[in-house]
Amino acid sequence: MTDPIDAHLTQAISDNLENIRATIASESTRALIEPVPEPALIAVSKRQPSERIQAALTAGHRVFGENKVQEAQEHWEGRKTDYRDLELHLIGPLQTNKVGAAMALFDVIQSVDRVKLLDKIAHIAERDGHCPQLFLQVNTGEEDQKSGVLPADLPALIEHAQSLNLPVKGLMCIPPQSDDPALHFAFLKTLADRYGLKGLSMGMSGDYAIAALMGATHIRVGTAIFGARDT
Ligand SMILES: *Cc1c(COP(=O)(O)O)cnc(C)c1O
Repeated sequence: MTDPIDAHLTQAISDNLENIRATIASESTRALIEPVPEPALIAVSKRQPSERIQAALTAGHRVFGENKVQEAQEHWEGRKTDYRDLELHLIGPLQTNKVGAAMALFDVIQSVDRVKLLDKIAHIAERDGHCPQLFLQVNTGEEDQKSGVLPADLPALIEHAQSLNLPVKGLMCIPPQSDDPALHFAFLKTLADRYGLKGLSMGMSGDYAIAALMGATHIRVGTAIFGARDT
């Protein structure tokens, strides 16, 4: 990509990354559970201007999250050749007709929430001989408008993934705005433990410290790193 390097912007984003990483690291060592490795910080670059993404790369960050396949292609397809150690996570809802494109671009798909999606992923994985790591998104607040499998339907989804030999690494949730996120993080941890899954993707700009304290392995932060998104 051809963005000129903006030293001030790079410094600002570098400082944000450093501060958040330090908070996450110290909170996760205070975690009330058995010790976990330092959580991965996923910089959520959706609807961020190209120069801010470039600044994060210049600051040395390599792990990014996007919530739309097409926008992610615009942000990352060109950069993938320049930055071979990128790790890209899909954190937004996935339509069945975008599965192929998503599997070609992303290293991790965190928003798997239904049998049809698992079937499609398995089909393409068989064809291409390659499958991203998968997280199952759980609708812990049982909100109508939110994607994610309902907690009651999670066991069947996990069984289905296992029957297809798919690499399910963990669970992901987005708590309802109005609830105490800690309750949802604790619930997600309970579910992950019950099914023997190690990955826990939880926490955003407003609650990443709590998520780290509750045992998150992956934390998805956008605005606290990059500033407000384009609307
Ligand atoms: C946008 C988004 C985030 C980041 O949100 P911020 O509040 O900007 O940190 C995290 N997770 C998901 C699923 C998102 O869509």
